[in-house]
Amino acid sequence: MSKTGKIMVNSENLMPIIKKWLYSDKDIFLREIVANACDAISKHKKLVSIGQAQDTGDEYEINITVDKDANVLTISDNGIGMTADEVEKYITQIAFSGASEFISKYNETNGDGIIGHFGLGFFSAFMVSSTVEIDTLSFAEGAQPVHWVSDGNEEYTIEKGERSTRGTTVKLNLNPDEKEFAEEFRIRELLREYCSFMPYDIFVNKEDRACDCDECKEDGEPHDHTPKPVNNKTPLYLKDPKECTDEEYTEFYRNVFFDMDAPLFWIHLNVDYPFNLKGILYFPKQKNVMELQGEVKLYCNQVFIADNIKEVIPEFLTLLKGVIDCPDIPLNVSRSFLQNDKEVAKISKHITKKVADKLNNLFVADRAKLENAWSDIAPFVKFGCMKNDDFYDKMKDIILYKTLEDKYVTIDEFNGGKGDVFYVSDAKTQAPLVDMFKKNSLNAVMMDTFIDLHFINFLEYKRQDLKFKRIDSDTPEQLKGDVDRESADKIEGIFKSHIEDGITIKTESFKDESVPAIVTVTESSRRMQEMSKLYPGMFGGEAREELVCTLNLNNAAVKALPKLDEATAEALSGYILSVGKMSLRQLNGDEFSRFLKQSDNLLNMAINAHD
Ligand code: ADP
Repeated sequence: MSKTGKIMVNSENLMPIIKKWLYSDKDIFLREIVANACDAISKHKKLVSIGQAQDTGDEYEINITVDKDANVLTISDNGIGMTADEVEKYITQIAFSGASEFISKYNETNGDGIIGHFGLGFFSAFMVSSTVEIDTLSFAEGAQPVHWVSDGNEEYTIEKGERSTRGTTVKLNLNPDEKEFAEEFRIRELLREYCSFMPYDIFVNKEDRACDCDECKEDGEPHDHTPKPVNNKTPLYLKDPKECTDEEYTEFYRNVFFDMDAPLFWIHLNVDYPFNLKGILYFPKQKNVMELQGEVKLYCNQVFIADNIKEVIPEFLTLLKGVIDCPDIPLNVSRSFLQNDKEVAKISKHITKKVADKLNNLFVADRAKLENAWSDIAPFVKFGCMKNDDFYDKMKDIILYKTLEDKYVTIDEFNGGKGDVFYVSDAKTQAPLVDMFKKNSLNAVMMDTFIDLHFINFLEYKRQDLKFKRIDSDTPEQLKGDVDRESADKIEGIFKSHIEDGITIKTESFKDESVPAIVTVTESSRRMQEMSKLYPGMFGGEAREELVCTLNLNNAAVKALPKLDEATAEALSGYILSVGKMSLRQLNGDEFSRFLKQSDNLLNMAINAHD
């Protein structure tokens, strides 16, 4: 005999799990209850608009009262309300979502601003409450008020209530150890985080707020005591971009992110098709490059969901600051679902494209603005290029590089897009070489932020025709003249005695006579060293520094070496090598004591020669 059956889920077993695990973050209970209140108002508004409910003319609003002494929090709305049957059906049957039923009944394509979907939000109230009470009166004619109370276990009581006006009041009798939620400042803090843009006015302790302002105390001029809602019902991102002013964008940015610096520029996203998405992304001024930390807040129908959800917003864009509202994304489901959702991938692609378009437009229409902002946005652009191929493809021709002349150029403008690109990673320590470059009308680009080492490797991988060389890793051809091989060999011979491990001696005829020698670290050994510092253990210990000492055959001291007696030539050549190293970097302990000895030796020779 075979039989099919339905697996029954028993709420008695389920409740503790829901209470503990459904929401990892307790704070969200308030968002859920207030979002339900908004939904209830939206539903009433909808019914009024189609003539199925009476327009009573009162303002839609949500009132929250915080009673510290009683340890009670209430959230009251003048929305659709519920009959006793509805309370039993919607509240008591967990996961039977009244919101989804309403949407399918009224055949709304996009839910018309209805927030709830999963029928579990209400129960999050039990994460912080010992008992929860509902007082509700349905909009339906002749409806009776209902009072419902439960401690969150399988039992509840439902009876005739006393509410005389349409709507619902949810009363949370807070757990003794959740007293923080009976503090007005804490509730305001939560509302600010989660409910800032909810679509109906939200007031906190509206009624019992006695004004203690100075004017009132002094019995002065009467002034406006109208209570202020805690939220902004019509956040700027909902407005048509054509109607927004620069001042409004800046003010919105400051209010949302508490950042007194004005943003550099912004992108207003406004998409209706093939998905719904509205938002504003701001490029902030970077205060400290090491603390690149943006904040992109994700909303669903004006309800805050979370910061920096990388499944929806590509990770590199979270270096920006902004708000994005995506009513199409079922955001209170699990992240793994979002990862595999094709719609979500489209949204992420679209946002990336919009950001690249904005920067490309600026490059063409207002390059000066882009150049002015470049030092702030460069880390973001470079990080984005390395993280996201689409973004790199769109950005590759407009990436700017600052030259030694303080100008911003693209790589094509710099060297026609191929060949050697000399770069400066630290203008201070590389100053002697920078000077030499400038004296000889040679140019290099600045690559001096923490991301540049990676970015150089990335660019060389993408563009095999480019070769980046740090300014102290090689001498450009333009600085060199013809070499007389015979004297070069003689001079190299004199330096032989100083050759230690890891140093190669070369000779060149530099056009600049004043420099006796340039010591450089080979680009490859330096990069290995940098990588081994970044990823210790991966290269079997720290990589060895390989130095090249290039002697200048045009320098008087170097030229004189073959004519000097052996001891003087030996002392002078050692000294030249040490000075060359010093212009590259600080001498280490051994090198420094050797340098002191060499100096002393030379001084003595000079004195003896005089005697
Ligand atoms: P969801 O909001 O995801 O549907 P909830 O558990 O939060 O799930 O709520 C269940 C249902 O209870 C809602 O869909 C709604 O029908 C009803 N409900 C909850 N709060 C209210 C309220 N303040 N006014 C009217 N109905 C409400």
